[in-house]
Amino acid sequence: MQESLTFSLENLSIERSPLITRDKDEDDEADEDYHVSISYESIDESNEDEIDDCDPSDDEVQPDVIVNSPMVEPISMYPSTEGGSQFWGNLPHYTNINWNHPDEEDIPGMDLGSTWSIGQDLYVGLEFENKDAVKNAVKQNAMRMHQSFYVVESKKTKWVVRCPNAHDGCGWYMRAIESKRSDKWKVTQWGGRHTCLNMSLSQDHAKLDSELIATFIQGMVNQDPSIKISLIQERITSQTGFKISYRKAWMAKQKAIVNVFGDWEESYAYLPRWLQYMKEIAPGSFYDLCHDEFFVGNRCDRGYRQFHRLFWTFTSCCDAFNFCKPLIQVDGTHLYGKYRGTLLIATTQDGNNNVLPLAFAVVEGETLLAWSWFLSHLRLHVTNKEGICLISDRHRSIKSAIDNEAIGWRPPNAYHKYCIRHIASNFNTRFKDVKLKQKLVKLGYTPCKHIFDRNLQKFCESNPDVQRWIGAISKDKWSMTYDADGRRYGHMTTNLSECVNKVLKDCRNLPITALVRSTYTRCAEYFSNRGSRALADVSSGKVFVSKLVEALQKNQEEACSHQVCRYDIESSKFEVQEAFDPITQTGGKKWVVNLKERYCQCGKFTAFHYPCSHVIAACGVVSIDYYQFIDPVYTSDYVLKAYSGPWEPIGNEDLIPPSNEDWILVPDPTSVRGKGRPKSTRIRNEMDWVESSQRRPKCSICKQEGHNRRNCPSKSNNQSISFEDV
Ligand SMILES: [Zn+2]
Ligand SMILES: [Zn+2]
Ligand SMILES: [Zn+2]
Repeated sequence: MQESLTFSLENLSIERSPLITRDKDEDDEADEDYHVSISYESIDESNEDEIDDCDPSDDEVQPDVIVNSPMVEPISMYPSTEGGSQFWGNLPHYTNINWNHPDEEDIPGMDLGSTWSIGQDLYVGLEFENKDAVKNAVKQNAMRMHQSFYVVESKKTKWVVRCPNAHDGCGWYMRAIESKRSDKWKVTQWGGRHTCLNMSLSQDHAKLDSELIATFIQGMVNQDPSIKISLIQERITSQTGFKISYRKAWMAKQKAIVNVFGDWEESYAYLPRWLQYMKEIAPGSFYDLCHDEFFVGNRCDRGYRQFHRLFWTFTSCCDAFNFCKPLIQVDGTHLYGKYRGTLLIATTQDGNNNVLPLAFAVVEGETLLAWSWFLSHLRLHVTNKEGICLISDRHRSIKSAIDNEAIGWRPPNAYHKYCIRHIASNFNTRFKDVKLKQKLVKLGYTPCKHIFDRNLQKFCESNPDVQRWIGAISKDKWSMTYDADGRRYGHMTTNLSECVNKVLKDCRNLPITALVRSTYTRCAEYFSNRGSRALADVSSGKVFVSKLVEALQKNQEEACSHQVCRYDIESSKFEVQEAFDPITQTGGKKWVVNLKERYCQCGKFTAFHYPCSHVIAACGVVSIDYYQFIDPVYTSDYVLKAYSGPWEPIGNEDLIPPSNEDWILVPDPTSVRGKGRPKSTRIRNEMDWVESSQRRPKCSICKQEGHNRRNCPSKSNNQSISFEDV
């Protein structure tokens, strides 16, 4: 392995040195070193197998720990200046995946000759599309035959490999070069089959490196970026017969994510351009991208801006909120990617129980400043009306932000309520009593005030500390019955937000632009699916949404057995008695109903905004249409209106115009995930980091510093001219 190691080190020095003068020689590989993919190979390949070998305990690393460790290595701070656009040109969207055969897609570099296949002997004259195809073929062949090889020479137009047992007389040898005439790679020398003994079946195969695995699992990662490492290990074992370490599978997954969704740093650089375009195709959408000065040492570099926060919302979501429940749940969740961060989400629900995300933000953490910033944007750009119910956990930052009048979430604008599950969980932490905790949740959900008061008293009798604890939280914040006017629409938790979190779970380890894009494509999908269903409902004459019809049918059945006494000539006051069941000894309760005040003593009418069984029974006796007491949010018409907002397809992203900004957005270097890194690679990577962050990239088109070819001003001029010509 001596030669191949030297080869790697050579590449390393080229990668690291900012002063290298490019050789004009065609054979020079320096060009390629600016590619992300080549950087991986030259730096990682020699190294990761070592880690696997020297530390077998890596296999036992728990997924939790790995989640906190860094994603891809911080090799280049800046977008690669060459060949970068292919990442964005080929970006797959969730809609164009073949769900039946998610793995059936072209693997780059796997376009082998039509007659030759893996497992057969190589021969002189055998042709491949490109260098990667040669490498892949030789690697896979080595695995299939349980043989190995090392790289003797690797140039831009030449690749030479030899059997590691050459000194013992094995003549296996291959030389492939790029043919000047056909542009293809051709095997020009082949030393015949191995004469050495097959190496013993190993647990892991050195040539089955993370890069090769990445090409195997690209389809899986595309379908589910949060795919479990153990699944990747299983797949590779079944496909190749080799067991691979957790770490190798983990690294392969990160590389596959880069292959499918683009490079992390490049994603930051691309973000302003993508957002600008999104706002163009979805006018009225709002985003706020906050960025700071970027320092190299003590010097501020004006060519770059450092990412701080991003808030975004789509115009159709904002419009939809007018036809959803006047209810918003907010929640924060960690990002899993290479860079640390917190995703904040605001969520609402339509009358048919569909969850709809309203706004998103990527922030540094759940700090008071971040929540204040998010909530004031939410107030200004999404929910500029009165009487909104805001449900959250009791995070101190959220509470302080809402207490601040200037943020805009004080009554009458909004009424802040707590999630009962979070309160119950806090309670259990304090009192360590699961039974009491369950009673507390049940109390929260009790719609009738009299029953609630009685049960709360019993609940507190057990322990004066319990009484003090629960007494310190205002009842209107956690109880359904003290939620005057039923602002919560019966929602006692932040389940909606958690539901959206689950939907977006596999997006949370994506580079930032891919994350924002996936919120766009998913919302668009919600709208087209739900909108067309609502349209069908309205067309077929269904006035109310199916969830409400189900609930009303149940109430109506119960109403049949109620006995109603009328108390006034205006037909507004009633006493409704439930039937007594002699077998279960239940029922027989009496409730006051006041139709004029839209009130039933049971509390459900107020809480859910549609008639309870008692109201239906009372209406039946005096022949009043109870439909008038149903909140319009439950009509098919409202749901249709909510989802009738337009969405534009994003299309070919290569055609997105360049950013107007004269700086490049870079991630905050201090937010790179650093926990749980193996010590052996840590120092090296930190050094790489410092050096690469000081390198100033040059534009490959105009050779100027301070921008790359993606946002090169000269390129945009050329482009606009050529478009006009057409
Ligand atoms: Zn051999
Ligand atoms: Zn009732
Ligand atoms: Zn340029």
